[in-house]
Amino acid sequence: MEEGLSAARAFSVPMTTRFRGVTAREGALVRGPAGWGEFSPFAEYGPRECARWWAACREAAAVGWPDPVRAAVPVNTTVPAVGPEQAARIVAAGGCGTAKVKVAEKGQDPAEDEDRVAAVREAIGPGGRVRVDANGGWDVETAVRMVRRLDRYSLEYVEQPCATLAELAEVRRRVDVPVAADESIRRAEDPLKVRAAGAADIVVLKVQPLGGVRPALRVAEACGLPVVVSSAVETSVGLAAGVALAAALPELPYACGLATMALLSADVCDDPLVPVNGALPVRRPEVSEALLAAVEIPPEGWRARLAAARGALDG
Ligand SMILES: [Mg+2]
Repeated sequence: MEEGLSAARAFSVPMTTRFRGVTAREGALVRGPAGWGEFSPFAEYGPRECARWWAACREAAAVGWPDPVRAAVPVNTTVPAVGPEQAARIVAAGGCGTAKVKVAEKGQDPAEDEDRVAAVREAIGPGGRVRVDANGGWDVETAVRMVRRLDRYSLEYVEQPCATLAELAEVRRRVDVPVAADESIRRAEDPLKVRAAGAADIVVLKVQPLGGVRPALRVAEACGLPVVVSSAVETSVGLAAGVALAAALPELPYACGLATMALLSADVCDDPLVPVNGALPVRRPEVSEALLAAVEIPPEGWRARLAAARGALDG
């Protein structure tokens, strides 16, 4: 390994909710002079894509992150496409002042979205913030109609109402609710394209796909739009990098999507990054050898992926 980094240790943590079609979150952890880094690209990503995820891991382990400008990062509760009673329970249990509600789920009808959003507004109260995330699932006409309908419950913003930049731009021209781009941003040049297309008012950024906290900060600065930092559903090691990005941004007007520890059934840290009063403390949890050993899997596959990613990054 380079730069005094340890050999990678691989983990597999069962998920509490199915995510991206998987039931376990896998990845590798590497220790360096600055601490632990997480390398957890999704299974379908090849070496070129993984190179950026590796760069983020190497930054965490080898050099660490820029100094924070805040001590806590407000986060949102996420409400999946469940019924209204369960949605209200999730909001109450989450204890956050902001809720993100999944909408446009395949096989559900618009009334189900409205019932869920209404229940969330009721549960969070008039002072809470409610955003919806369609994950690109609407066409333009449906998006315009649904955003107007759901805005009766006062929306903070709508995340990725449609799939393409042209569609996002058209929705943005036709509704008063701000539009956030998430799936449209997968690499460093994408936020600039989003801005140039007039496709969004807000960009959702994740540390690993952008190659680290410093590259993500440069992207945020170049793009100039408000940023919501989101996780890639990492262990507390990877979440700490997201927290470091959110903590280093000059402005942070929106709650971040970093309260995702609840999606994993276990962590590798004794003191996981879970919200307290709707915010994550800005800190870097220590890896527990016993907890890591409990979720450890043979490392060969992940070491090979990591070597390929490193080759793609350096070559
Ligand atoms: Mg999203």
